[in-house]
Amino acid sequence: MLAATNPTEEHVHSTFASRYVRAPVPRFKMPEKSIPKDAAYQVIHDELMLDGNPRLNLASFVTTWMEPECDKLMMAAINKNYVDMDEYPVTTELQNRCVNMIANLFHAPVGEEETAVGVGTVGSSEAIMLAGLAFKRRWQHKRKTEGKPTDNPNIVTGANVQVCWEKFARYFEVELKEVKLKEGYYVMDPEQAVELVDENTICVAAILGSTLTGEFEDVKTLNELLTKKNEETGWGTPIHVDAASGGFIAPFLYPDLEWDFRLPLVKSINVSGHKYGLVYAGVGWVVWRNKEDLPDDLVFHINYLGSDQPTFTLNFSKGNYITHSYISLYYFLFHTLVIIIISGSSQIIAQYYQFLRLGFEGYKNIIENCMENMKVLKQGIENTGRFNILSKDIGVPLVAFSLKDSSKHTVFEIAENLRRFGWILPAYTMPANAQHVAVLRAVIREDFSHGLAKRLVAHIEQVLKEMDGLPSRLQHKKTERETQEEVFKYWKRLVDRKRAGVC
Ligand SMILES: *Cc1c(COP(=O)(O)O)cnc(C)c1O
Repeated sequence: MLAATNPTEEHVHSTFASRYVRAPVPRFKMPEKSIPKDAAYQVIHDELMLDGNPRLNLASFVTTWMEPECDKLMMAAINKNYVDMDEYPVTTELQNRCVNMIANLFHAPVGEEETAVGVGTVGSSEAIMLAGLAFKRRWQHKRKTEGKPTDNPNIVTGANVQVCWEKFARYFEVELKEVKLKEGYYVMDPEQAVELVDENTICVAAILGSTLTGEFEDVKTLNELLTKKNEETGWGTPIHVDAASGGFIAPFLYPDLEWDFRLPLVKSINVSGHKYGLVYAGVGWVVWRNKEDLPDDLVFHINYLGSDQPTFTLNFSKGNYITHSYISLYYFLFHTLVIIIISGSSQIIAQYYQFLRLGFEGYKNIIENCMENMKVLKQGIENTGRFNILSKDIGVPLVAFSLKDSSKHTVFEIAENLRRFGWILPAYTMPANAQHVAVLRAVIREDFSHGLAKRLVAHIEQVLKEMDGLPSRLQHKKTERETQEEVFKYWKRLVDRKRAGVC
């Protein structure tokens, strides 16, 4: 009471000794009174100290460091609403340039001076919804013109797909037909995938950089096998490539690897700008091979911002103004208002900054460095003699590893114990039919160094040593497989909660 009536007195208190910081924080009801800005800052700042350190979070592919110059540009744009394309035409232009550059990097058949078809999103998850929807609509058109039913669309993927595909399937009522994995083989087998394809398949989704092991799927073989099947059946089933993590790896490290629009059946590709596109969280991209691959009726006119309608037209000669249509599409599909956060202007600007600043040379350098650090870490982990390495040298720079012997202790305990040093490594079980295999994964990002790799290995060794001296939390079983299954059951509850963190 006193403080509120006599603000000058309040100013002489130390922030921590002031009543604002001494009182419990409000959690349910908006406080009656205002408090000084420095007290508000301190309260929130201090609570956030208890979050993990993003730089030591090796669970995530998402960028945790950018150059200060770029931070400055992003801060300057933080008050621009990207949706207002009319008011911020330059930001829109930067988005279009990014789409063009990405389409070009992925060998889309567009001319030198031609605009590509694509859009910036909040991440690959949103990009995948959009791409999946385009496939669904194209398939429906085709079926209708053939006088066939359109009620049972399906999509074929590996069981290793990221959770956003499951979301797409559920939200947009498409059956997800998954190719099962097996021990020692953790990506989609193209042969089995093509076997699963039927007349209701809207597309086969291949992953460039499996989230679980970083391994690239064999899109070229998939394209060959599917071409053959299409010739026999006339179904014309297309391919989508989920290159969320690998889209900014493969072009720089393996330029001869054919996984993109060089393969005729690949009609759309998504990539996360906030993974190896090297931008902070909140930007992804989807590009289509050409405008025929994006059905016209997915795009229509609205004027909820009160500006000229033509702004909202999908205009291919100008390109890339799809985002608004996406919103209207949601209105249309759900007959209700769904609020979608469109990637902010800052993220789009940051993406353009990275393309301009780094160029092909810069990206190649950074990715090569990530690969070198991955190898240092992998070697160190192998040298402990206690782990099998599941990730491959060709793929996304990450190390996925499982314990050779988990009869006494598990990767989950290792993950738990590494938290003590600040390291965040996810431990998870593989999808069907390899769910008895439990792994740890460390994603290598630009800001991870040789020195940190060595420290992590030392900490893993220390944790192993300590664990060896502790009694087992598990019941003993006979075989390795039974033991692993026991592990799986034991940790299932935790893992179910943790899956969301593996992205
Ligand atoms: C990360 C990831 C996604 C989801 O991407 P966001 O950009 O986080 O939305 C989808 N697929 C794969 C293969 C991924 O690695």
